[in-house]
Amino acid sequence: MNQVEQDQIKSLIRSIPDFPEAGVVFRDITTALKDAEGLRIIMDDFVERYKDKHIDYVLGADARGFIFGAALAYAIGAGFVPARKPGKLPAETVSVSYDLEYGSNSIEVHKDAFTKGDNVLVIDDLLATGGTAKAMTELVEALGAHVYELAFMIELADLGGRDILKEYDVYSQLKY
Ligand code: AMP
Repeated sequence: MNQVEQDQIKSLIRSIPDFPEAGVVFRDITTALKDAEGLRIIMDDFVERYKDKHIDYVLGADARGFIFGAALAYAIGAGFVPARKPGKLPAETVSVSYDLEYGSNSIEVHKDAFTKGDNVLVIDDLLATGGTAKAMTELVEALGAHVYELAFMIELADLGGRDILKEYDVYSQLKY
């Protein structure tokens, strides 16, 4: 994504101080998603980067990772897999716990989501501490699949998410 596009998307993101708790500046992407040109710039950038990379599945994090993940998977001819919060998936699951910038959670996929050797792109809206993303890599690898790269619309660089993901390639469109 070029500088002009980055500036345009940043101007569409709404920052809400002290949400959901004191000290957190929440980066609200709904204002960028509802802008047709903004959404096109974001998705075109992801599609350009990941087309023709032989990605079998895009794994999107519950819930905002679904927005980009499903659209991207469709555009590059991959399948989409949702990594869901506990208790949502009906069949047998594999689960990993992780810490959030605020609170903690666990995330799971169906046990038959991937098979050995599948090439998986992990995607979420935002990289903060990296806890969610790391948990997603653990889910992929627990099923014998390969993490191609991790993709984010936004990276909060000061929170060091990249450091706990240093064994992987990490791509973010925008940094704060
Ligand atoms: P983390 O596991 O710390 O990297 O947190 C990433 C997840 O939490 C993503 O799914 C984000 O949607 C959400 N998140 C964390 N911090 C923020 C923030 N400041 N603004 C918006 N979403 C956030």
